[in-house]
Amino acid sequence: MYVFDAPPQASLAVLGSDARLPIRRIFCVGRNYAAHAVEMGKDPERDPPFFFTKPADAALDTPCTIPYPPLTDDLHYEIELIIAIGKGGSNIAESDVFDHIWGASVGVDMTRRDLQWAAKENGHPWDMAKGFDYSAPIAPIVPMADVPSVEDARIWLAVNREIKQDANISQLTWSVREHIATLSRAVTLAPGDIIMTGTPAGVGAVNTGDVITGGVDGIGELEVTIGAKA
Ligand code: MN
Repeated sequence: MYVFDAPPQASLAVLGSDARLPIRRIFCVGRNYAAHAVEMGKDPERDPPFFFTKPADAALDTPCTIPYPPLTDDLHYEIELIIAIGKGGSNIAESDVFDHIWGASVGVDMTRRDLQWAAKENGHPWDMAKGFDYSAPIAPIVPMADVPSVEDARIWLAVNREIKQDANISQLTWSVREHIATLSRAVTLAPGDIIMTGTPAGVGAVNTGDVITGGVDGIGELEVTIGAKA
């Protein structure tokens, strides 16, 4: 019994199923491709992976139209491989990580870049730069049995059909095995945890009316249209 209605369970579509994947938390890996670290003004040294989060209900199915969010004049796309945890655990060994993965997909870590720069400058948290409403559009989750690879596949994004990001997930600074093992030492992972694994180089701004397409070969494609200002 609650004092008012409990919030709806955040969830994502699953490819080839009517059942949906319930979301518990969304963890994101920062600067996980060297060329993106360089474009963000950082040394591409292999520093330990770091994480930030988005609220579970920032996720939404694609194709979708999302409103241009408030408080920004510099809304950026970041195409990312998505991992969905199906079996929880802490201190997971790298060799065991794949036993904990339910599926994979592709999503966009939408970012209010101007707020992120201001947060970095002022030593403030990134939450309002990263964790706003509709900031995690994600394609249907593909069960692991149907995923050819989360270690070697082209990842790409286009705006209005013009390619902006084009890389391979083999270029992840910290591989799926490595960063999920690391994350599991910081928190106890649980079924429904989603991991956005970081974006390659080529991030940039989008505006109302733009159409983002993107994908990870063998795993999925998405389409996100930027709507009017919220
Ligand atoms: Mn990102």
